[in-house]
Amino acid sequence: MKKFLDENFLLQGTTAQRLYHDFAKGMPIIDYHCHLPPDQIAGDINFKNLTQIWLYGDHYKWKAMRTNGVNESYCTGNQPDYDKFEQWAATVPYTLRNPLYHWTHLELQRYFNVTEVLSPSTARKIYDECTEKLQTPAYSVKSLIRSMNVKVICTTDDPIDDLAYHKKIKEDGFEVKVFPAFRPDKAMNVDNAVAFNQYVVRLEAAANVSINNFNDYIDALKSRHDFFATMGCSVSDHGLEHLYAEDYTEAEVKSIFLKIREGKNLDLDENLKIKSALLTLFAVWDWEKGWTQQYHLGALRNNNLRLLKELGADTGWDSIGDFSQAKSLAKFLGRLDEENKLAKTILYNLNPADNEIMATMVGNFNDGSIAGKIQFGSGWWFLDQKDGMIKQINALSNMGLLSRFVGMLTDSRSFLSYPRHEYFRRILCNLFGEEIDNGEIPNDIPWVGKIIQDISYNNAKKYFNW
Ligand SMILES: [Zn+2]
Repeated sequence: MKKFLDENFLLQGTTAQRLYHDFAKGMPIIDYHCHLPPDQIAGDINFKNLTQIWLYGDHYKWKAMRTNGVNESYCTGNQPDYDKFEQWAATVPYTLRNPLYHWTHLELQRYFNVTEVLSPSTARKIYDECTEKLQTPAYSVKSLIRSMNVKVICTTDDPIDDLAYHKKIKEDGFEVKVFPAFRPDKAMNVDNAVAFNQYVVRLEAAANVSINNFNDYIDALKSRHDFFATMGCSVSDHGLEHLYAEDYTEAEVKSIFLKIREGKNLDLDENLKIKSALLTLFAVWDWEKGWTQQYHLGALRNNNLRLLKELGADTGWDSIGDFSQAKSLAKFLGRLDEENKLAKTILYNLNPADNEIMATMVGNFNDGSIAGKIQFGSGWWFLDQKDGMIKQINALSNMGLLSRFVGMLTDSRSFLSYPRHEYFRRILCNLFGEEIDNGEIPNDIPWVGKIIQDISYNNAKKYFNW
C-alpha cells in the first residue's frame, strides 16, 4: 500500500515518477488566468489566521460544508474565525474523493509543512501552527507567490478598474509579473436595464467621457482597452453561457442601445444582437493588439435566488449548464477568421459533455500561424479535478495536439491554490508514464520529458510571449 500523499502521489509507476521528479516538478508557473485580488498583492498583506486565507471567499469549501449540514453562519456568516475553521475541519473527513480532500492536504503540506490529516482531533493544533506561521514575513502574500515559483500572474479586471494596484505592484518592483486581464462581462450585461445603466455611469467616470449613444459607449470601452494595454494587459476573458453570434446591423444595435438607456428591458432578439455586436468588437480589438482572448463557457449562475438575494453572487449557487455551444462558437470564430481578425483564443467549457466539441472546434481555426493558436483550455471550476483533467487531456490528445497545450491555470481567488499546478502535472506525468510502461509510447524519456516541460511551462511562455 502506498502512503497517503507522499512524494509519489498520483504517480503509479517508476516511469511516471521519473517524468514528474526529473522534468515537471522544477518548472515555474505561468498563471495566465486567476482571480487573485491585486490590492492584497500590492499591500503584500499577511492574513490574520488560517480561516481568513483559506475559508473567506471560498465557495468550494462553503458548498461542501453546507452539504455536510453546517449552518450558513459558519460559511458566509459572522461566527468567530476559529469556530468556522472547526466546522471546516469537521467537514474535511467527509470530503473523501472530492478534490477538496486532496487540495486541502496538498496546501497544508506545501505551504505549511503540515503532513497530518485535518480532522476535528487535529484542528486546534493545525490552526494554531499555521496561524502563527502566517504572521511571519515568509507568509506575506508576495512570499507565498514566490515560494511556488510563479513567474507571471494575470488577474481578472473590469474595464472600469483604474488598475492602481497593478501600478503599485509594478512600481514596487515585485519580480513576479502581475498583469491585468480585460473582462468586460458587466459591459455586456444587458439582461438587466437598471444594472446596465449604472454600469454606463461608472464607465463614463472611468473613461472621463459622456455616453449618449452606442458609438460613445464603444469609444469609452475602447479607451479602457487601450489603457489596459498600456498597463501590460495582453489577455481578455469572458464568462458566458455560450458565444453570441447573431446577425445584426449597425442601425439595429444603435437603436437597441438607446432603448436600454431609456431604462427599458430588451427582448431576447435585441439582447442577443447587442451582445453579439459587443463581443465581436472586443474580439477585433484583441486581434489588433495581438492579445489572447479567453472564453469561459457554460456556467448556469445564481440558481438559488433566495440565497443569492441574501448572500450575493459568487457564494456557491452556480452549476454546470447545458447550453448549445457548437454552432454559435463556429459562427463567431468563423466570422472573425474570414476577416482575418481572429486573435489567439482559449476556449474553456464547464460541461464535460462538450469536451469533444471544444477539442474538435479548435482544429477548425488553427491556421498554421503559430503552434496551438486556438486552444482547448484546461479543466475548469467543477472540472478542475483528477477526473475532469484526465477527460480534458484525453479529448485534446484524441482530437488535437496535447503537446501544444498551454496547460494549467489556477482560476482561483486563493493565494494557497498554486499546488493545483502540481496536481495537474502529476496527472499528466502519470498518463504519459503509464503509456510508456504499456508500450503505447516509445521509452524516449528525454523527448516525453520535454513535452511535459512544454505543457507545464514552455508552451505558455511562448504562446503569451511575456
Ligand atoms: Zn475565472
